[in-house]
Amino acid sequence: MFALMQSSQVETMHFIVDPDTGLKALIAIHSSQMGPALGGCRYIAYGDEESAIQDAIRLAQNMSYKAVLAGLPYGGGKAVIMRPAHVPSRAALFESFGRFIESLDGRYITAVDSGTSSADMDCIAQHTQHVTSTTEAGDPSSHTAMGVFAGIRTTAMARLGSDNLEGLRIAIQGIGHVGYALAEQLHAAGAELLVSDLDSGKVQLAMEQFGAHPIASEALLSTPCDILVPCGLGAILNSKSVAQLRCAAVAGAANNQLSCPEIADQLEARGILYAPDYVINSGGLIYVALQHQGETLSTITAHLSRIGVRLTEVFAHAQAEKRSPAHVADALAERLLSAS
Ligand code: NAD
Repeated sequence: MFALMQSSQVETMHFIVDPDTGLKALIAIHSSQMGPALGGCRYIAYGDEESAIQDAIRLAQNMSYKAVLAGLPYGGGKAVIMRPAHVPSRAALFESFGRFIESLDGRYITAVDSGTSSADMDCIAQHTQHVTSTTEAGDPSSHTAMGVFAGIRTTAMARLGSDNLEGLRIAIQGIGHVGYALAEQLHAAGAELLVSDLDSGKVQLAMEQFGAHPIASEALLSTPCDILVPCGLGAILNSKSVAQLRCAAVAGAANNQLSCPEIADQLEARGILYAPDYVINSGGLIYVALQHQGETLSTITAHLSRIGVRLTEVFAHAQAEKRSPAHVADALAERLLSAS
């Protein structure tokens, strides 16, 4: 674990076990140079503790890069709660987690993530104010979708020469909170949608609402399309899947889409433009950060519009330097962090 902390430049790790509620959780704080670490809380079943630690560290680093490139005064952190097979009371577990966050004195602020909801955040909020995306504050997914939509247009402009999405074939993997809101915007912009989800009910809804074409989950990545939009889980781009892609660009909401940094070079070699995930999906973070600071919706919306500008800048550097946009974004984030 220490080697991974060192190579990922994670500042601190915090652990808790609470036998009374079944809580087993950890919080990784990657960086607090720009401000308190802000990042979601995952509540999923992990095969082992090492996978949970690795997940938290990778995601915390991703949050630091996301915050600094979005120009937010926050560092990066992530919490992981190991979901037990049985929990006596979900509310008690999240309340206990709230007390854990409070013990960190504001160095970490939490938010919803995979497996958690605003109702869970409400339980946390009973014991700490260092929590966002409560029922009152609202779910950030629609703002994430807004940012991704802007990013898809930027990507289309950079790769296809126009940001007009009308008639483009866009394949979305995962029609969840973000995927569905995004599908709605893409449909309104005239795109032809190809969708897959492990939940057939969500696919059915997208077919009914947006005239989307259903694609089997295992076939989506190799389906011919203009833009592939990953909105399910991370690490879907590996040597094998990249070889099968039949798209001009990848631009989606999922965190940590690349299974390892070298995959970015394989995408580049295949002429597939990749929109770095933590740049294009920063709308949710922008929303929770600014909402936590008490900013108005119009300020938040104005800040969201900078996602497209940042992405254009990353693509321009990538083209000039003949490097993958993923490496350009990493280098830019690291430079900004070390200059702070
Ligand atoms: P969600 O759980 O609501 O939706 C994810 C959907 O993807 C689910 O419907 C699931 O069934 C589907 N899915 C998972 N694996 C799949 C596969 N292999 N093939 C097809 N479908 C699959 O999650 P969400 O909130 O919509 O987030 C989607 C992604 O975006 C996640 O990676 C998340 O970390 C990332 N993200 C979300 C936000 C946000 O504001 N919600 C912000 C930034 C990043």
